[in-house]
Amino acid sequence: MSGSAGPDEVVFSRPYRASGELANLEAVLRSDHSHGDGDFTRSATRRLRAVSGAPHALLTTSCTHALEMAGLLLGLRPGDEVVLPSFTFPSAATAVVARGAVPVFVDIDPLTGNIDPNQVAEALTPRTRAVTVMHYGGVPVDLDAVLAVTEPAGVALVEDNAHGLGGRYGDRMLGGAGVMATQSFHDTKNVHCGEGGALLVNDDVLFRRAEILREKGTDRARFLRGEVDKYTWQDQGSSYLPSELNAAVLDAQLAEFDTIQAARHRVWNAYAAALGEWADAHGVRLMSSDPGLQHTAHLFYLVMPDHEGQQALIAHLRTHGVRATFHYVPLDTSPAGEHFGRRLTQLDRTAQFSRRLVRLPLWAGLADAQVERVIAGVLSYRP
Ligand SMILES: *Cc1c(COP(=O)(O)O)cnc(C)c1O
Repeated sequence: MSGSAGPDEVVFSRPYRASGELANLEAVLRSDHSHGDGDFTRSATRRLRAVSGAPHALLTTSCTHALEMAGLLLGLRPGDEVVLPSFTFPSAATAVVARGAVPVFVDIDPLTGNIDPNQVAEALTPRTRAVTVMHYGGVPVDLDAVLAVTEPAGVALVEDNAHGLGGRYGDRMLGGAGVMATQSFHDTKNVHCGEGGALLVNDDVLFRRAEILREKGTDRARFLRGEVDKYTWQDQGSSYLPSELNAAVLDAQLAEFDTIQAARHRVWNAYAAALGEWADAHGVRLMSSDPGLQHTAHLFYLVMPDHEGQQALIAHLRTHGVRATFHYVPLDTSPAGEHFGRRLTQLDRTAQFSRRLVRLPLWAGLADAQVERVIAGVLSYRP
């Protein structure tokens, strides 16, 4: 998006640059180790465990690949069903379809954009193997309500935690509620390495298997720790591990995690404080989060009264040099969603949310003057 922006334009998103990145990259390039699972992978993984609270973490090439690993680890088979929100990124569904299983789309809670736990309960069948939730914008899903449905049914919970790193639901870290969680380090995310991801695993047995799936189906991870004297083909698998070059950038970013988050929350809080009155006066709803929970300031969005309002606000901001944008197109009515998936009901709340939502620029390097420009742009909009 920044590619087509004018010189004074407030771009929608700009990747953070951490101070240690160049030195880390130089260290990798000067070493003879740029393939995966070197010192930077170990360091970044340690930092990721600290930030997420996860007992086990594995860096991957993407969140998409981490979701595919989760599908393998769950042993999804043709005919199995996985319940997920229609309002999410397609990878949550492609990982299910890759195993021949069926994504079953349900609606959202319109206050958060997160999966509606009541619909999860209605969608369960004897073929349901898992529920995948996503903490939209970093606002926690009602995990107690979802677990109250999944646990008695013996259905696995997977958190697509691409937006939720560092967030909290009560005293629980996001990514820690289910059996597994996935992270994205794509450069549109709070912490990134260009392209990258991770699988968080909250189960010791699954973690052992996850290490093997990630390393081409071999026990190379155990070999590197000196636990076996050679490595051999053990199981299904693929190559899901990132290069040390990616890990070097990620390690530098995770070292500045608190700084990144503080900068993002500052922008989020400025929008929330400045736009409330205007929103009330114009029938607009601002993104909000239960004050008892800890969101991650991944996004800041407004829900306009109708689709025309969405289009008009985006166009108005553009004339003020501010790039705002919509978000996910519902999966259940997309071409592949109709072909591969099933939906519980007509998902009206998802359709409306998608057609009304406007995201404002939110990134760690936004200057105060830019934040003021965005706010002035929104306040000058009249429906
Ligand atoms: C970004 C994102 C993904 C995909 O991440 P990649 O690392 O690009 O594969 C998946 N799910 C959600 C919710 C995302 O925001």
